[in-house]
Amino acid sequence: MGIRIYNTLTKKKEDFIPIEPGKVKFYLCGPTVYDYFHIGNARPFIVFDVFRRYLEYRGFDVTFVVNITDVDDKIINRAHRENRSPADVAEEFTRAYFEDLEKLRIRRATVHPKATEHIAEMIALIRKLEERGIAYRLNGDVYYNVEKFPDYGRLSGKKLEELQAGARVEVDERKRNPLDFALWKAAKPGEPAWDSPWGKGRPGWHIECSAMSMKYLGPDFDIHAGGEDLIFPHHENEIAQSCGAGSAQFARYWMHNGFLNIRGEKMSKSLGNVLTVREILKQISPEVIRLFFLQKHYRSPINYSEDILEETERAWRRLQNTYGELLQVENIPEDEFLAGKLPDRARAALQELAHHRSAFEEAMDDDFNSARAIGHLFEIVKLANRILAEGKPEGERAYVLSRIRKTLEGYDSFLSLLRKEESPATSGDFEKVMELLLEVRNSLRKKKLFDLADEIRSKLHEMGYQIEDRPDGSVWKKMS
Ligand code: AMP
Ligand code: ZN
Repeated sequence: MGIRIYNTLTKKKEDFIPIEPGKVKFYLCGPTVYDYFHIGNARPFIVFDVFRRYLEYRGFDVTFVVNITDVDDKIINRAHRENRSPADVAEEFTRAYFEDLEKLRIRRATVHPKATEHIAEMIALIRKLEERGIAYRLNGDVYYNVEKFPDYGRLSGKKLEELQAGARVEVDERKRNPLDFALWKAAKPGEPAWDSPWGKGRPGWHIECSAMSMKYLGPDFDIHAGGEDLIFPHHENEIAQSCGAGSAQFARYWMHNGFLNIRGEKMSKSLGNVLTVREILKQISPEVIRLFFLQKHYRSPINYSEDILEETERAWRRLQNTYGELLQVENIPEDEFLAGKLPDRARAALQELAHHRSAFEEAMDDDFNSARAIGHLFEIVKLANRILAEGKPEGERAYVLSRIRKTLEGYDSFLSLLRKEESPATSGDFEKVMELLLEVRNSLRKKKLFDLADEIRSKLHEMGYQIEDRPDGSVWKKMS
C-alpha cells in the first residue's frame, strides 16, 4: 500500500498519486514576518517539514516551497508604531524566522520566496483575471468577483450563500458581492507601494500564495498545506484566483493542521497568552518540542501546558538515553551474522523489530499518522532496553542492537529527535553529577527535609533511575 492523504477538498483519505511519478510538488503557507513566530505557528512548520522529509525517505523527489509574507497590514502597523520602515521590520523577523527554524531542526525548504520579490508575477496574474472578466476595478483597488467562479466554496464545503451568511467580512457597499476580496490595494500614505496598471499600490494577501506557488510548482501541483484557519477564506481564494487564471485544479491534495490551544484556551494576543518559540526554547529543548507535536495526530487539536511538556520531556529522555547507550555498542555489519545462524532469542528480537518497523511505516503512510508511528518508535526503545538489560552488548546482542540503532537513525532523517553527542546516561560526567545529586539528597535527609529528598528520588525514578538507600549510603542504577 502506498501513501494516503486526508484531502480537505474531498473530506476523505485518498491514495496519494503525484502528477509526475516519483516527484512531489508541495506548497506550505509560511509566516507573516511581523513578530517572532509562536508555538502555534511552529506546528505546521514542524509537521509539514517532517512529511516532506518522510516523502523523501520513501524515495520521492520533493520540491517544497514555503513563502514569506513580507508585506502586510500587521507589518505596516508595527513599523508605524516603532517608527521604522516596514521593510526593516520584515527583514528583522525574516532573519529571526530562519534562526528559529534552524534551532527547531526544521530543514530549509527548496525555496522560500518573498512576496515583495514577486510583485511582477502577482500583477501578471491579476491582469489575467481582469482580462477574463473575473476581476474588477474599484477606485484604484482591484477585486475578485466570486460569483464568476462556480466552484467557490468547494474547499470549505459550503455554498456561496452559506459562506456569505457566516462570513464576518467588512460590508463594503461598493463591492458586487460581500465575499469579493482585494487582489490589489491602492496605495495609502506611509505604506509600501509598487507601480501597477491600476496605479501605485500593493498586492492582497491571497494573490501572493497563488503567484508564488504557481511560479515554483506550475499551475497544477500535488500538495498545498497550512493551518486549518486558512481554509477559508485564504485557501478558498487561492483556488478561485489560480483556477480563474488557468489552473485546471491548482493543488490536488489540501492538508490542514489542527490548532494549538494553550492551557485549554485559544492562544491570542488579546488573552496575553502568546508564547513565542524563542521564549520556549530558553527552557525546553527543540527535540522535546518536536516530539510534543509529532506524538499527536496533525489534524487533531493540541493542547500546550507545562505538564504536557514535562511529560514529553521524560519520554524524550527515555528515547535519548537508549540511543546514547546504542551509540556505545559496537556496530556490527549485517553480513557478519547470517539470520539463519542466529540463536532463537536474537531472531525473535529481530522479528519484533521488523514488526514495529512495518507498523511504523504503515502509520506514516496512513495520512502521516506520526502519533501512531511514535508509539512504535517507543516499542523499539523498549525492545532495545530489554536487550541492553540482558547483559554485555556483545555478539548477537550487539548485532541486534546495531540493527535497532540503524532503524532509529533511519527514522531520524525525518524525525530529528535524536542527539548524536554522547548521551548523559553513559558519560563520566553524568556519573559525577549523579553522585553529587545523591550527596545533596543525603544532606537533605540529615536535615530532615524528607519532602525534598523524596522529590529528588521520585523525579529520578520518572527519568528511569532507581535510588536505593543502603546503610553505607545511597546507590543508583538505571532501570531496564
Ligand atoms: P501566520 O504567520 O499567522 O500566517 O501563520 C503561519 C502558519 O501558522 C499558518 O499556517 C497558520 O495557519 C498557522 N497557525 C497560526 N496559529 C496557529 C495555532 N494556534 N495552531 C496551529 N497553527 C497555527
Ligand atoms: Zn498562503
